[in-house]
This record gives sequence, C-alpha cells and structure tokens, in this order.
Amino acid sequence: MSGSKRQSSCGPDVSLASSAMSTANQCIFCGSPAGSREHIVGKWLLNDLGLYSSKTKMGFGYQQDTGGMDEIMEPQPLGSFVIDSVCGKCNNGWMSQLENKAKRLLTPLLVDPFPDNNRHLFSALFLESHMITRWLLKSACTFGVKMSCEVPQYIRDQLYNGYLHPEVMADISVNDECGLYIGISRSWACYTNEKLDAMQVPNESFRFVWQLRHIALRVAYFPGCHKMMTRPKYPVRLHPKFCVPPDVEINGKLQAAYKYPTLESVEHDTIYTPKHEHPHHIPVGRRRYK
Ligand SMILES: [Zn+2]
Repeated sequence: MSGSKRQSSCGPDVSLASSAMSTANQCIFCGSPAGSREHIVGKWLLNDLGLYSSKTKMGFGYQQDTGGMDEIMEPQPLGSFVIDSVCGKCNNGWMSQLENKAKRLLTPLLVDPFPDNNRHLFSALFLESHMITRWLLKSACTFGVKMSCEVPQYIRDQLYNGYLHPEVMADISVNDECGLYIGISRSWACYTNEKLDAMQVPNESFRFVWQLRHIALRVAYFPGCHKMMTRPKYPVRLHPKFCVPPDVEINGKLQAAYKYPTLESVEHDTIYTPKHEHPHHIPVGRRRYK
C-alpha cells in the first residue's frame, strides 16, 4: 500500500458550504427530515469549560510530518459551531443521552491541573469505555459533516443502531498542555518502505482528534488495516478492547505510558506500522518497561 497524500475527496478545495447544503434536509443518522440545531461541542462542555465565546483551533485535512494536521479554518467560537443535519428525535433522544453519559464519565478528567496520581481515573472507565467511544464517534460524525470529511454512512448507521464497528479504534491520553483542539482527517501516519508516510482510504477512513484541557481523545477508522497494523500501545485504549497500558521508562524514569508532553507528541507517537515492516519499532524516547 503506498502513500496517497492529497488524493482525498475531502481536500481543502471542497467548500464547506456545499457539503452542509447537500446533507441539510436529511438526518445523517436516521434519514428523517433534519433541521434540528446540534452543538458540535456539547452544551455541557461549553458551560463547564467556559467555552461559549472562546475560540478554538480547528484542524482538518492532511497529516503533517510532525503528526499534526493542516489547519484550514480560522479559530471558531464554539458556541456558534452548530450543524442542522440531524433530526429533533435523534438530537433530543439518543444523542442527548450520550452527551449526558459522556458528561458523567469525563468530568473527573477535565481538570486543571491534572492530578499526578491518576491511573484510577482511567481504570474507572473500564465498564463504560464503549459509551465514550460512541460519544466520540457521534462527535466525529457531526464535525465531519461540518468539515466535509464525512464518517461513512454504514458507520453512522451502526452507531444509530447501537453498534460499534470492530475496526473503530478509540483512545484517551493525557498531556501537559491545557487547551482545546478539534480536528478531523482522512489520513494516518504509517511506515511504508521504512519511511514515514501518510495513508488514507478515500471517503472511508477518518481520524478525529479532540483535546479538552489536558485530555486527548481520538477515534479512528482505517478499514482493512485492522489485522495488518501494529496498534498504538501507549494511550489508554477505549475500543475495541479496553486497556490501560503498563508504565514505561522514559529518560530513566518510570511513568504512565499514556502521559505525553504535548498533543503533537501523542499524534507523533501513534504510527501505524505494517507488521512486516517494523516488527519491533518503538518510538524514539520511549522504551518498554520490562
Ligand atoms: Zn435522526
């Protein structure tokens, strides 16, 4: 599989307005007449984190070598960041229930400063990690509509029917930065022929990244790569199988594997490596603790 940078149908040349219009009259989940106003960033987050008027960085498009994403939009005030591509029944029903569940589960993690002794905060997500994954996926669906990088319809259908595709991956990690970032992209970083590259499956793959205070949440779908790829080892995995990774030795000090200096370093550390290419690849600066 070769890198296919800049071949996506969701490139920056696609206007945001035309995409919003094409899906404006049908709910992206159930197909009923749409038009219900949905805040892409839930109202509880806007309130609890004081975000109504603060502007946030938006990322979109292509993965850069640093692991970040190109930015094509000016920072947006999140209070006005809405879509009308869902129906009232979905918006006020299952989507609202997911917001309430996410609020309950994530509130203990949305603190600043982030406590040093924090493993129990992540372990506590064990039984309901699928709820956070569903909530993240719902957010990727609405943000994807806004940013012309839509989550495939079959993934949306499954979410609507209460299922999660087995190849959907979601994780959570903590970093020293405190802030906000929201981004979606079709591409992911990958080693091919011993070189760092970016790959994508046009119209299907996606990667949604969301930093809320010190927490980085990600949900991604790279169809067909499920069995071929070495998966991220270090963040706390929410889906498909919940896992809090063991501590690692970093610069001679034992520390939580899921803790990073920056969001960029989380992204940079997550490189999908075909198993035949780099069977023992370990990101620079990190060594597995034995
Ligand atoms: Zn609906």
